[in-house]
Amino acid sequence: MNSNKSQQLFEQAKLIIPGGVNSPVRAFKSVGMTPLFIEKAAGSRVFDVDGNEYIDLVGSWGPLILGHSHPQVVEAIQKAALAGTSYGAPHYGEIQLAEMICDAFPSIDKVRLVNSGTEAAMSAVRLARAFTERDKIMKFAGCYHGHADTFLIQAGSGLLTGGVPTSPGVPAALINDTIVCRYNDLDSVRAVFEEGSGQEIAAIIVEPMAGNMGLVLPDIEFLYGLRELCTEYGSLLIFDEVISGFRVTYGGLQNLLDIEADLTCLGKIIGGGLPVGAYGGRREIMDLIAPEGPVYQAGTLSGNPLAVAAGIATLKILRDESCYDRLDVNSYVLETRLRTVLEETGAEIAINRYGSMFSLFFTGEEVTDYESAMSADVNKYRNFFAGMLKQGVYLPPSQFEVCFLSCAHNEEDVEKIAEAVWCVLNDQV
Ligand SMILES: *Cc1c(COP(=O)(O)O)cnc(C)c1O
Repeated sequence: MNSNKSQQLFEQAKLIIPGGVNSPVRAFKSVGMTPLFIEKAAGSRVFDVDGNEYIDLVGSWGPLILGHSHPQVVEAIQKAALAGTSYGAPHYGEIQLAEMICDAFPSIDKVRLVNSGTEAAMSAVRLARAFTERDKIMKFAGCYHGHADTFLIQAGSGLLTGGVPTSPGVPAALINDTIVCRYNDLDSVRAVFEEGSGQEIAAIIVEPMAGNMGLVLPDIEFLYGLRELCTEYGSLLIFDEVISGFRVTYGGLQNLLDIEADLTCLGKIIGGGLPVGAYGGRREIMDLIAPEGPVYQAGTLSGNPLAVAAGIATLKILRDESCYDRLDVNSYVLETRLRTVLEETGAEIAINRYGSMFSLFFTGEEVTDYESAMSADVNKYRNFFAGMLKQGVYLPPSQFEVCFLSCAHNEEDVEKIAEAVWCVLNDQV
């Protein structure tokens, strides 16, 4: 594995871009390496500027469920570009994508397109506050909803009491309006509601399938319980399905569990690799958004024709070609192979998988929430990551990011990944 050019470019980038990257985790800081600069990508593979080829398990952090540069998606983007890159005026593609989203989610009557998941979650929270005329938001440790101030607050030492900002620059004044509870711990949520905050909580926002502390599967009773508490106290339930939307099924995890969220946040897959986010929900709530109602939210490039075209092309393929079955089979085979490898090597690794998302946590504990995720040994992951890269497999450069399989990964890729894991663990263990 050669990385001369990547190293050179990283040095150059660091001079003019903070940390050399436009999103922190890309910098490989938590694995203590130099990031690969990518030259091109196709199907299940990425190619770096030094001429190395990798099986990609990052998938641009979730959007690329069809793999890189899927021909039909690329064609849709090319066609759209020839008709103009942005109008700042309504166009038919927006209706098409909105209809596809509403058709796929029974809980979404109306949807507004934005440019990122961050924007979707931030706007959904503003809307929930306006609708309920309340200020407080409840979130869960380890869930990520983008980088708006409201979400950059973590539980203080006394969980459930005051929080602390996770970033300088977040006003202390916001701390009291964000309550942080433990994922999968319904009792802690119920306690907060019953101890008097219930009437003040505008919304609970939750990743129904948590994908930002590594993959953590929800306890189904936890999610049903959140729904019940919200209904009882007049708070809104916001499902952040930016990762799980169109990843776990054609629709979201809410479809599989038959839970009606009041508002749903989407992103990633619905943009087919271009910048799109969306938030939607019940008509009476969505009708509060400007210009129909008073809640302001806008975007110069929202509903961008190229992004919308990529999203429509992606969703059409997912809808019409029963991609999920194939993905599930490949993912299941990979999990089975990995479990065999772990048994053979005796490595202490917890595998969490749901459909085409999975995480390998370097811990002997079962991982069910933020605390147990944090029991993972990041140094072991660092070595594992470096070893896998040498074997030609590009994993997320952090223990706490999810691996994604795509429809472009075939049986051969799956076999190669499992073999690479075997080689790396045998060197180490
Ligand atoms: C990625 C992600 C976001 C943020 O989306 P961006 O497009 O990066 O702003 C929000 N919520 C969840 C669950 C995500 O995984």
